[in-house]
Formats: sequence, structure tokens, C-alpha cells
Amino acid sequence: MASPLIGLDLDELTELAQSMGEPRYRGRQIYQGLYRERRAGPEEIHTLPRSLRRKLERDHGGGLPEPVERVESQDGTVRYLLGMSDGRSVESVFIPEESRDTLCISTQVGCPVDCKFCLTALMGLERNLDAGEIVAQVIAISRDQALDATKRPLNVVMMGMGEPLLNLRAVMKATSLLASPDGIAIPQRRITVSTSGIVHKIAEHGRHSVRGKLAVSLNASNEEQRIRLMPITSRHRLGALIEACREYPLRPWERLTFEYVLLRGVNDSDRDARGVLRLLSGIKCSVNLIALNPGPGIPFETPDPARVGAFRSIVQRGIPCFVRKPRGRDIFAACGQLKRTTSADFQ
Ligand code: SAH
Ligand code: SF4
Repeated sequence: MASPLIGLDLDELTELAQSMGEPRYRGRQIYQGLYRERRAGPEEIHTLPRSLRRKLERDHGGGLPEPVERVESQDGTVRYLLGMSDGRSVESVFIPEESRDTLCISTQVGCPVDCKFCLTALMGLERNLDAGEIVAQVIAISRDQALDATKRPLNVVMMGMGEPLLNLRAVMKATSLLASPDGIAIPQRRITVSTSGIVHKIAEHGRHSVRGKLAVSLNASNEEQRIRLMPITSRHRLGALIEACREYPLRPWERLTFEYVLLRGVNDSDRDARGVLRLLSGIKCSVNLIALNPGPGIPFETPDPARVGAFRSIVQRGIPCFVRKPRGRDIFAACGQLKRTTSADFQ
């Protein structure tokens, strides 16, 4: 079977329609059916003639992942395990908030970066997701939760499994599809790409005209500490990372986000907080603190709230600094806890 339709953009769908001997406008009808109306597949796009629907279903059906599992947290967060066509699966998380919702989606199956505090790292990299598989997570969950980005603000954060900048082509194509106003219609400023700091790819990301906001996982206050926590730092040096951030072409409304996972007694001292201030001085940014979400096989502990508060008040002397509320910890849906946990793990 040829590839599924999800992931194809308007030009590609128009070309496909033409190659099937159909008029060009069929491309737009398919596009709207898939992305605006979020149909499950060509069979459901009723603006198309029945014979075309059938042909498309036969040759380009599928594309929406199957929810293999759906676990709801006490706080309303829902963790999805979504099955891809090759039998592999990824996790995506729905996080409802008062005035908006957030979807946390994956960009790879597993992750090749070996951060010492992250459960996804333990999987290694199984494979990249393609643009369709990235977008399909948003469509599948939007269908399940009856979300519509044109009616209620919807944020998408690429903070699930994987390192987005190591799958940049698919991430950029997915971003264009997500942001397209006549499609899924999630504004660029509501899309965030989070990176562990793949230095040369940061500049490349910045060169795209349609792109999400950039979040950089800093997680350490100096290079030696960062090499221990994120060994990738020995190839992507901290100095070079900060330089790439300084040079990143921010749009007028935009600032960088730095994420910082606090590990008790490791990177959470007042001295570390002052180090963070020094490193980031002069960068238009804010800092998100995340107290470690613990997990089996993770050799670190969560700092107590007083320590988190003290760290925050120091950083805040120079930079807006927020403490990220852990969501879905009880169902292993919080940051760094995505490891394809199935319900069997809870028993
Ligand atoms: N690979 C990308 C995006 C996925 S990780 C990145 O590293 O940025 C998303 C965020 O979760 C990162 O900021 C990461 O530092 C954080 N994280 C990883 N493990 C964590 C854990 N155990 N507890 C809290 N946050 C964690
Ligand atoms: Fe990969 Fe991000 Fe986890 Fe590091 S924190 S292992 S880059 S998913």
C-alpha cells in the first residue's frame, strides 16, 4: 500500500489528485477533510465522490494511530499510547488547563540522547517519526477529546519522546501542517519545540519562516555538571549552545525558554541558580523549573518545594522564572516519564 494521506501538504495532495485523473480542487477537499475536519480517513470525506473515496481508502488509507491505551490521571491529564502502522508505539499526553489545553507529542520512537534523568533515554532510539505520524498524534487526540484549535486555545509541545532537532525535516513539515490556518490552525506561537541542545540544528530551525518557539533543556549551571547529566554536552559544548541561543533569530513577540530539571543535591543549589543567571544574562528568555519526576532506574531524587522556591527566587532576580506544575505523575505521563508504560506496570 502507498503511504497514508496524513502528512501530505496541499501541493502534494493536489498533485496526487491530478495523478489520479481528478481535478485539482479535489486536493483542497482532501486537505480540508483531513486537517480542518479531522476525518479518520478518505472514506469519511463526504465532499469527495464515492469512487474516489474508495480508491483513496484502498491505496492511501490508515494514517491515524490506534490508541493502544488511554490512562487518565487524577488531575485530568490523559496519557495515550498510540500504535503506529509498523506495530511500534509512541506516547502523547493531553493536559487540560483552565483556559486552554496542551498536547505533548513525540517526535521519535525512543530517543538517542542519553540524559541521565530521563526514562525515554533508557529505550534508545527505535526510529524517527515522519511528519504524518507527528501530526496524526494531534489529530487522533483532538478527535478523542473533541478539541478544535479554532474554538479554544490549543498548545502543542514537542516534549514527548525523542529529540525533535534530530528529526528536523519531519518536525518542520509537521509544524507547517499544524500551523496552517485553513487546516489544523494552531498558531506558530502555540507550538513549542524542545531540544536538548543540538547546536547546529538550532540555527537551522531558526531559518525556517514557519516554526514553533524554541525551548532549550539547560538542566545544568556549568559545563562539567552538564556533561555528567547530559553526556551529549561533550559534543555540543555548553558555550556553543549558549552562543547559538544568543544568535537565534527571535521574532518580535518571542522569547526563548530554558528548561531546568532540578535534581536534589546535584544541580539545585543557590550557587547553581546564580550560575544559570550568569549563563543566560543578556538573552531574551524565561526559565521553567521542573522538579525531577522520578522513575524506576533514574538515580536522582526530587528536591523539596522549599529548595525549588529558593532556586526560583534567585533566578528571578534577573530572568522571569516559573515552576512547572507536574501533571500526570501518577500515570507516568509527566516530563521525562514517557517510556511506553502500559497498565501492566502499575499492577
Ligand atoms: N528531547 C527534548 C524534548 C523531550 S524531553 C528535550 O530534551 O528537550 C522534555 C523535557 O523533559 C526536557 O526539558 C527534559 O529536560 C525534561 N525531562 C526529562 N526527564 C525528566 C524527568 N525525569 N523529570 C522532569 N523533567 C524531565
Ligand atoms: Fe531525549 Fe529529551 Fe529525554 Fe534527553 S531529556 S533523553 S533529549 S527525550
